[in-house]
Amino acid sequence: YFVDPSQMKEQYVVITGDDVNHIARVMRSRAGDEIICCNGQGRDVRGAIEEIGADAVRVRILEEDLPSRELPVQVTIAQGLPKGDKMELVIQKGTELGAFSFCAFTSLRTVVKLDDKKEKKRRERWQKIAKEAAEQSHRSKVPNIANMLTWRELLASVTQFHYALFAYEKEETSTLRRALSEVPAGSRILLVIGPEGGFDEKEVVEAEAAGFISVSLGRRILRAETAPLYALSCVSYEFEQ
Ligand code: SAM
Repeated sequence: YFVDPSQMKEQYVVITGDDVNHIARVMRSRAGDEIICCNGQGRDVRGAIEEIGADAVRVRILEEDLPSRELPVQVTIAQGLPKGDKMELVIQKGTELGAFSFCAFTSLRTVVKLDDKKEKKRRERWQKIAKEAAEQSHRSKVPNIANMLTWRELLASVTQFHYALFAYEKEETSTLRRALSEVPAGSRILLVIGPEGGFDEKEVVEAEAAGFISVSLGRRILRAETAPLYALSCVSYEFEQ
């Protein structure tokens, strides 16, 4: 369970909010059962439930410094906003695969338009999906769902990363595999995936001019939602022992 850092004391943890119901009614946990708690800032502990109250669960810490399950590189997936609920799939599976954060963007070929209110609602839902997927895959961190960006804003964000990769199905020479072989552990990587209709030629030129490295994800054309999951699997294969 992810808890606010202020709720993780030296010897015990207090869990509040929706997780109380999850522990008591969904998991049907009892005093004495063991659970893992993370404060999202690198402190992951194993503990035993001491008491389950109506609004809070108190956990006694048994073990500190659990081994990290995070990828050695921080991968941000920037996804051209896809139709329907495909972004939910990307966030759920991408979280299991170790993505550090997600950001949806609009570009010439994205078709879904969201006003501010709808965007806020979507992001709240996506953040909840990320939290649940992080818990089930025993991540130490819940990926952040960043504000949606326009294409221009996405290009400008390149300076925040050590490597900015741009998945382009017409790329013939540069592969993701080769690009990853040059990336040292600890790097922040931005990986941009287009919407269902892909990128306009103009956008490809703009991305390269902004410093993005165009990479192929293999010879087959992947669905917009398959591409980030394939790429994250490659990152995990490259960096994890
Ligand atoms: N029309 C299909 C759909 O509805 O999902 C395919 C969409 S594909 C054009 C969407 C994005 O996935 C592309 O813009 C690109 O970023 C990425 N992509 C898919 N296959 C790829 C490949 N073989 N190499 C690089 N990128 C790829």
